[in-house]
Amino acid sequence: MHELSIVLGIVDIAASTVQKANAHKVDRIELEIGELAGIETDALLFAWDTAIKNTVLARAKRDIHYVPGKARCLDCGELFDMHQLYDPCPKCNNYLNEIIQGRELKVKALTVS
Ligand SMILES: [Zn+2]
Repeated sequence: MHELSIVLGIVDIAASTVQKANAHKVDRIELEIGELAGIETDALLFAWDTAIKNTVLARAKRDIHYVPGKARCLDCGELFDMHQLYDPCPKCNNYLNEIIQGRELKVKALTVS
């Protein structure tokens, strides 16, 4: 499962952050997930509960910030909300668009102790 490998990657990041800080565990983790990142949130949360057992994240409070997709049409310059990758420009129907935001998938903040 794609989402499981993502969570395992996050566990790695958390573990090395805890180690560098000479801490023991993560109290809080903030994630940023873009609408266009190709992540199934339900699958991610399901994988999360399995993957964090017995890790530094086991007791961490989790906050997820969802980032809406936005794109700019490379033809007419229209800025629009993109809900799926490769949605066309709503004004001129052009498919060549620059994605401005919504592809992020990252650990935004970690609080360790
Ligand atoms: Zn356009």
